[in-house]
Amino acid sequence: MTDETRPKPNDGFAWVQDALGPMLVASALAPFADHFFTTRAWPIGSAEDGAAVDGWADIARAMRLDPAALVRVRQVHGHAALVVRPGDAFDPASLREADIIVSNDPSRAIAIQTADCVPLLLIDRRTGSAGAAHAGWRGLAARVPDVAVATMASALASRPEDLVAVIGPSISWCCYEVAADVRDAFARAGFAEDDLARWFASEPRPTPRNPSMRGLGPLRADRWYFDGWGVARHQLESAGVPRDQIHVAELCSASHPASLCSYRRDGKGAGRMAAAIRPR
Ligand SMILES: [Zn+2]
Repeated sequence: MTDETRPKPNDGFAWVQDALGPMLVASALAPFADHFFTTRAWPIGSAEDGAAVDGWADIARAMRLDPAALVRVRQVHGHAALVVRPGDAFDPASLREADIIVSNDPSRAIAIQTADCVPLLLIDRRTGSAGAAHAGWRGLAARVPDVAVATMASALASRPEDLVAVIGPSISWCCYEVAADVRDAFARAGFAEDDLARWFASEPRPTPRNPSMRGLGPLRADRWYFDGWGVARHQLESAGVPRDQIHVAELCSASHPASLCSYRRDGKGAGRMAAAIRPR
């Protein structure tokens, strides 16, 4: 593996090499739950290409589970949650519409897919219950991280102070240009102007770890560069998850074409990355 196909994540994250390709794991989650974030090498396809590629059996295998034991949802950029308990029926041919899954069933894993949106995994260190959520800007404006924590509390008796939250590879403000309507949506959703000023920059914010993607256009009026990681972290902290139990991989999906799927960079052919976790 070259550095290009394994970009260096934040401290607390490590690459694991599976037969299919690299997957990212978080040391803060590893003691409590099997979990991973996959990369571009894993062919799970996308909503647009339908059943052309069904790599979900590979995701289940990497979890050491049968394909039927991987619970997924039809993601719709909302904030609805699916609660999975032992014995609940799951039909992979008829996925429920939701962007959050929470579960206390250790016989199955839960998984979501992304290609720029924030993938969030949660574990309750006390009970072993887990959560997985998908949030692009619409989901973040709809408070998906906040709702995920609240759903674990209401449905599975989790206390926010027992949760560990991990945010995997997703697009960041090195690359993520948005128009004024996105900023306006957060204002309408009730976020404070001080917060908006921290999450929307007037120019791209590349770093040595995450250079701006090729093809990022020149600065334009009325465009913003959006920090989804900051929004997610803010909501998790506001919901009561301790700051030092929130871990962000800080890998931008658009910055790393050799390893990560990005819809903004590659459009409909981008493919998807899975984030999966198994309750304990
Ligand atoms: Zn980037």
